[in-house]
Parts: sequence; C-alpha cells; structure tokens
Amino acid sequence: MMELPNVTFTPAQLRWRQIAHEIARKYLLPQAAKHDRHASYNDDAFRAAAEAGLLGLWIPKEYGGSADGILGLSLVVEELSKADPAFGVAFAVNALGSIPVIVGGTEEQKRRYLPRVARGECSCAFALSEKFAGSDAGGLSVQARKMDGGWLVNGEKKWTTNGSRADLITLFAVTDPTSKSRRISAFLVEKTDPGFFIKKVEDKMGIRMVPVCETGYKNVHLSDDRLLGGQPGLGFKHSMMTLDWARPGVAAQAVGTAAGALELAVTYAQKRKQFGQPISSFQMIQGMLADMAMKTEAARWLVYTAAQMADNGTRHISKYAAMCKCFATDTAMQVATDAVQIFGGYGYMEDYPIAKFMRDAKILQIYEGTNQVQRMVIARHLIKEAMEFDYLNEQIPTETQETYGAEYEIVNV
Ligand SMILES: Cc1cc2nc3c(=O)[nH]c(=O)nc-3n(C[C@H](O)[C@H](O)[C@H](O)COP(=O)(O)OP(=O)(O)OC[C@H]3O[C@@H](n4cnc5c(N)ncnc54)[C@H](O)[C@@H]3O)c2cc1C
Repeated sequence: MMELPNVTFTPAQLRWRQIAHEIARKYLLPQAAKHDRHASYNDDAFRAAAEAGLLGLWIPKEYGGSADGILGLSLVVEELSKADPAFGVAFAVNALGSIPVIVGGTEEQKRRYLPRVARGECSCAFALSEKFAGSDAGGLSVQARKMDGGWLVNGEKKWTTNGSRADLITLFAVTDPTSKSRRISAFLVEKTDPGFFIKKVEDKMGIRMVPVCETGYKNVHLSDDRLLGGQPGLGFKHSMMTLDWARPGVAAQAVGTAAGALELAVTYAQKRKQFGQPISSFQMIQGMLADMAMKTEAARWLVYTAAQMADNGTRHISKYAAMCKCFATDTAMQVATDAVQIFGGYGYMEDYPIAKFMRDAKILQIYEGTNQVQRMVIARHLIKEAMEFDYLNEQIPTETQETYGAEYEIVNV
C-alpha cells in the first residue's frame, strides 16, 4: 500500500512563511516590474531574505542552518513567487546549488560552504546543462582531467541561473569518458577561481530579474578537495539526488505563480465592468476562476506532500518530485494564461502585472527537467512498481500478460 505522508507544518515553518510574506510585500511587489524591465537583480529583497535567515532554511543545524527542510523551503518559495516569480527562482537556486554539498559533500566541504550559504554570504548556482546536453544530461562534454594534486577543468555550460552572481558554482563535468555509469563528477567552483568566466548573460522572455548565463572554464585548476564527496564518478547520482530535493522548490514557485495570477484575476474581474456589470458576475468568468482555484489548490497540496516526503526520506521521492514539478508547473502556465484572458486586451499589455506572470510561468515547464522528461520519470516508476501487482495477474488476460511487467527502461533522465 502507498505510504500516506502526514503533512504537518511546524511553528518555525509557518513563521518563515510569514516572514517571506512580509518581505514579498515590502521588497517584491513594489519593485518587480522595474527589475523585470531593466533585467536588474533585486538586491534589497535578497539582503532582506539573508538578514531574516531565510537562506539557512534547508541547511542542517550543525552547519548553521535552521533545518526546516524542503517543506519549509517550499512554503517560503511559494510566498516569494506569488509576488514575483523571478525572485522565487533567484532565491531557490541557492538551494539547488547547495543541496549537492548537503547530499554528497565531505564533512570538510560542508563546514567550508554551508554556514556561509546559510548566512547569505555565499550565493549559489548549479551548472549541469550544456549547449548540446539538456534533457540528455548523460551527454555532457565539459571535462575535468586528473593532474597532480587536483583537476583541470575545460569547457562551457549553458543556462547557469545566477551564474554571474554566484560565489559557489556546483559544476558537473566528465572525469571518466570511458565509463557509462561513473562518467561524471561534481566540483565546487568558486567565482574567484582563475579561468572561470561569464561568456554571456542571456536575454530572456521571463524571469528577467535573475541572470542566466553561459559560464566558461578555461584551464580552471581545482585542488582535490573541490571534488564533491572526494571520490570521482558520483556526479550523476549527486545531480539526481539534488533534483529530487529541489523539484518541489520549482513546483512551489509554480504554485506561487499560479496563486499570484489568480489573485490578480479575481481582483480585476471585480473592478472591470462590461454590459453594466463587473465581469466577475458572468458565469463563464466565474467558471474560469473556479477552475484556476481548484487546480492551484490541488498543485499546492501535491507540492506539500512531495516536500514532506523528501523531508521524511521516503522511497519513491523521485516519482513524487517529478509529479509535483510537472503538475504544478503545467497548472501555473494554464492559470497565468487564463488570468491574461480574464484581463482581456489589457492582459496583453505590460501596463498591468499579469503579462509578466504569463512570461515568468513558461520557464517552469522547461527547467530542472522539461515536463516531457518528468512524465518519463513518472511512467518509469509506474512501470517498475507494476511488477509488485502480482495479485492482479489473474485478472489480466494471458495475451496481455506477456508484455505486462516486461523490462522497460527509460534512459537519459
Ligand atoms: C532560463 C533557464 C534557466 C536554466 N537554469 C539552469 C540552471 O541553473 N542549471 C542548469 O544546469 N540548467 C539550467 N537550465 C537548462 C534547462 O534545465 C534545460 O533547458 C532543460 O533541461 C531542457 O534542455 P534543452 O533546453 O537542451 O532542451 P532539449 O533537451 O533539447 O529538449 C527539446 C525538447 O525535446 C523534448 N525532449 C527531449 N528529450 C526527450 C525525450 N527523450 N522524449 C520526449 N521529449 C524529449 C524536451 O522536453 C523539449 O520539449 C535553464 C534553462 C533555461 C531556459
């Protein structure tokens, strides 16, 4: 039988949520449009988040964090994203870039980096994707070659979120081109390392506040203590474990994005009059709002469930992480699009905040694994789990039993 996680919020998690709400009101709502227009970073909001202690939420207490887990992180990211989805990712990428150290770092690496991340003194990025290796993360080309006392890194990464701001970049590179399963290793690159450079800052459709960059590595010499976990060949495992923990965070961005768009749509629908009455009195508008609200709420609880499962260390977390990422981000795109529809022609203009929600929502379906990839992950788990349904065998006609439960593996996720 499926495990039923008991989602419970601790008083500390609820307090962080309230703090995030206040930061959002004070620093995000008034500044989101300006930072979007100028593609400039909201330093005030980041400083406020750091001073409040939000950067230590997912970090264990022994390394200076508050250990409020993925559930605490999700609550905070949702609140921030509701006001500005771009700041939601600018904040959450610090978890994405530092979780590898938590799940795979040596004791010394944890002590060196995590307390600084928790204090907001070490901003992070996660560099996995490359120009020719996106969904197929096994096809990386950035190389780290073993040499005396360390590693020599060469190559380029595409789309490193926070790349030009990050102090610490968790970089995934090929250390054994001949191996299939232990080809990749993760390294801890610091922005001051000679040979690290920003090749390009991307010009994006949405989430314009946070820089997304091509990062370059030209003969970057890293000492042995920069190899994550101290052993080569564990990079793929580290990246997948990280994504299991981080995907509820992207899904929480999506829930915040949907909730923010819904609130704007409800407010507008009551103010905008046509045919002598507020458009909120028309049943078709009411139907749209009701559907938007139901989907947002369903996504919210799937995210909380997956986050709680991640915190509980539950088996099958990959499936739930993929399900909440896929469902919540599809929901965000749909709700934001419907919100624009409710705003009519004004929704298409940048004069109102709703167009930005639709632009910001789109990337959610693409990064941290596209939603096609999430569906593949979910299906792969379903097929594996079906092996356990032997009690149903008698109920399935023989000819279909032959393919039922056949070895079926989806690679490259
Ligand atoms: C703004 C932005 C920020 C990003 N931030 C980061 C970051 O911080 N760190 C990082 O490492 N990466 C980051 N990425 C990269 C992101 O994770 C990738 O863009 C994503 O994984 C998809 O890879 P791709 O763009 O190469 O698309 P492709 O892999 O080329 O896919 C193209 C299309 O084909 C589909 N597809 C691919 N393979 C399959 C398959 N087997 N079956 C069915 N459909 C398939 C995809 O779903 C997609 O629709 C970011 C990207 C963007 C745009």
